[in-house]
Amino acid sequence: MQTKKMVLATSNEGKVKEIQHFLKGLPVEIQSLKQWDNVPEVEEDKDTFAANALKKARVISLFCGEITLADDSGLEVEALEGLPGVRSARFAGSNASDEENNHLLLEKLKSVPSSQRDARFVCVLALFSPDGAYRIIEGTCEGKILFAPKGDGGFGYDPLFFHEPTGLTFAQMEADVKNKVSHRGKALQKLRAVISEFI
Ligand code: IMP
Repeated sequence: MQTKKMVLATSNEGKVKEIQHFLKGLPVEIQSLKQWDNVPEVEEDKDTFAANALKKARVISLFCGEITLADDSGLEVEALEGLPGVRSARFAGSNASDEENNHLLLEKLKSVPSSQRDARFVCVLALFSPDGAYRIIEGTCEGKILFAPKGDGGFGYDPLFFHEPTGLTFAQMEADVKNKVSHRGKALQKLRAVISEFI
């Protein structure tokens, strides 16, 4: 099978490496956005993860003229009607740190009992081809929001997100365990099958 190029709509080298790892063995040559100049800025201003991911994939695919993969992810808390959702990165303000976002989340949930602290991480991947064809893939992971952070690893809301089946927060997990159970890991596992029939 002929190798096809696929652009990742990210300049984050960590994400590029992670995706390369998941797609090992497939006939795709992954290219990061670093290889292009004057790449358009894409604002994540939609109401859903899927709409944001698709917008990013479409804009970058039409700019580069190549199949493009984009992602959007975040945390949905049931007691907050799905917040922080698409605002996960900027929950406490546009330049908020992970600590500030976690602090605000704990503040908003301070009177919510354990039994009502259900949450889920969501990761949506969008594949877009310059001819207009696209696919949307979703991965989710259910958990509970703790009353205080636990664990030193990971990023974002990881120290507050307790995964019941393993008895660990995402910040306490080894990377290979998180890759198996996480929203992103599940979406990337599905991506392998979708790419095989899309390219
Ligand atoms: P993005 O998809 O890179 O825009 O991520 C959005 C935000 O969601 C991040 O800045 C984090 O706050 C949160 N988030 C997404 N995935 C994770 C995760 O695996 N752990 C912790 N936080 C996450």
